[in-house]
Amino acid sequence: MNLFDRYMIIYKTPEEIEIMREAAQIVSRTLGLIAEHVKPGVTPLELDKIAEDYIRTQNAIPGFLGLYDFPNTLCISINDAVVHGIPTDEPLKDGDIISVDCGAIYKEYYGDHAYTFEVGTVAPEIKKLLKVTRECLDLGVAAAKVGNRIGDIGFSIQQHAEKHGYGVVRDLVGHGLGKTMHEEPQVPNYGRRGKGKKIQNGLTIAIEPMINMGTEKVVQLDDKWTIVTEDGLPSAHYEHDVAVVNGIPEVLSTFKYIEEALAKK
Ligand code: MG
Ligand code: MG
Repeated sequence: MNLFDRYMIIYKTPEEIEIMREAAQIVSRTLGLIAEHVKPGVTPLELDKIAEDYIRTQNAIPGFLGLYDFPNTLCISINDAVVHGIPTDEPLKDGDIISVDCGAIYKEYYGDHAYTFEVGTVAPEIKKLLKVTRECLDLGVAAAKVGNRIGDIGFSIQQHAEKHGYGVVRDLVGHGLGKTMHEEPQVPNYGRRGKGKKIQNGLTIAIEPMINMGTEKVVQLDDKWTIVTEDGLPSAHYEHDVAVVNGIPEVLSTFKYIEEALAKK
């Protein structure tokens, strides 16, 4: 292995992208199933079990379980937790938000997908944080096209979040995705227009804005996993898997299943 290989972007063939689409669809359907079950009184560990069981029925394996020694299938991060929360047996409460991040490996390729759910009735200012963070994701995806550079993705996300006075997490970033969970390039949610690596066809990345209501600063809890906001204000996280095909972004994951489930509630 060349010393510089680990800094190289692994562009995917159309055949690989088709497998990655299926991996992304598996995690999308998993979060659709989770959407049906999120309500006050349910525990994160119950949601985790539902996700693990479903993924295994899809000829796939949980992507996070055991990755860097993470103990579960889902990362469930509640309220001021940004990402990497470990599911517990403490019931969810009315007014909570929970960011659920799900990984799966299908035919050796990773899917990686996240959504922030409302538990019961959530305060209007928190709903606005969720809405803006989703808009940030859409803007970031739209910037993932040939002719742009990686910095354009982060620029689009950062500009929109900061316009609303929110903090853009710096310590955690999106990433290349493929046969490993975290490949080159890093995809920060902040950046400068026209900076960074050129975006080319075959690029497969996870775009995942982590947006805080207050400060961008975060700290890690003593469990060595959970990342929380320094000021204790809430944080939102949405993530899509994106392939650049024919010059434009193709979103391999989908919130369709989540939206269908939520519409039935
Ligand atoms: Mg993720
Ligand atoms: Mg990710």
